[in-house]
Amino acid sequence: MFRKVQVALVSPLVLAWLAFLYHLSSTPDRRPHQPPPSAIETSKQPESSTNAEFAAHVEQLKKKLPSADFTILIQPPFVIIGDEPAEAVKQHSENTVKWAVDKLKQDFFSQDPRDILDIWLFKDAASYQKNALLLFGEKPTTPYGYYSSAHKALIMNISTGGGTLVHEIVHPFIEANFPACPPWLNEGLGSLYEQTGEVNGHIHGFTNWRLPGLQAAIKANTLPSFKHLTSLDASGFYDDAKGTHYAQARYLCYYLQQRGLLINFYREFLAHQKEDPTGYQTLQKILGHVDMNAFQQKWEKYVLALRQGYEVSVTP
Ligand SMILES: [Zn+2]
Repeated sequence: MFRKVQVALVSPLVLAWLAFLYHLSSTPDRRPHQPPPSAIETSKQPESSTNAEFAAHVEQLKKKLPSADFTILIQPPFVIIGDEPAEAVKQHSENTVKWAVDKLKQDFFSQDPRDILDIWLFKDAASYQKNALLLFGEKPTTPYGYYSSAHKALIMNISTGGGTLVHEIVHPFIEANFPACPPWLNEGLGSLYEQTGEVNGHIHGFTNWRLPGLQAAIKANTLPSFKHLTSLDASGFYDDAKGTHYAQARYLCYYLQQRGLLINFYREFLAHQKEDPTGYQTLQKILGHVDMNAFQQKWEKYVLALRQGYEVSVTP
């Protein structure tokens, strides 16, 4: 859905908006997240699963389909199973999954997830609730969708939009490419791309529903420092009833994106993760800020000026 936007900005941004080709709807992801699994051996693994492995996987899936209404499509590294009309499942497969995978790999990820992962696209809340219980023995705790590392599956209520789907696609790619990635960046990137489109041929996150809560937290002076946020382990990060850790991480990634620094940051952090496991030092380096308190003040002011549906320039 393309929202009406008012753009009165410098020309590169106007061009960016003209290049805007694709826009997914925003859907909140409030599932209780599982911490990422322990390190995955990624060296010397096969490039990807073979056609024969995909075919065998599909045969196994056919045996457990809840009804005859499901369409199964192979979209490496995923298999997509949906009970919308076949044409709709195909559109999600090509316009959302393939697009997101291609664009994420272009900028961030060299390795596919090690295992074939299933993406279940249930057509509505009733199908999602019923079939998650039937297939996985669990009642979803979010109305939108979630990634289950244990079931090697993304389980989605696709009627809520494609935003959560792109968010969740980020997680298995992080597992495969950066197993020691701290939660702030795993969720910051996932959240960034839950409101996403294509600008100048690259995946691009837009402002979204997480903004008002973050602005309220800034005004209430309740945000942690970036040093604290980046140091949080899974239990600390996900203990976040108001979602401000997610929002702070998202809009740090958004800021880096708008400054053209996000991809470099990710690559530098990946390369220096042993010396800098939280990414804080790499962040300082990329930002050119020794005084991170001063940076946070600047960033908070920037976030307070953002509005949903508007693109804002941060040219230094
Ligand atoms: Zn997530």
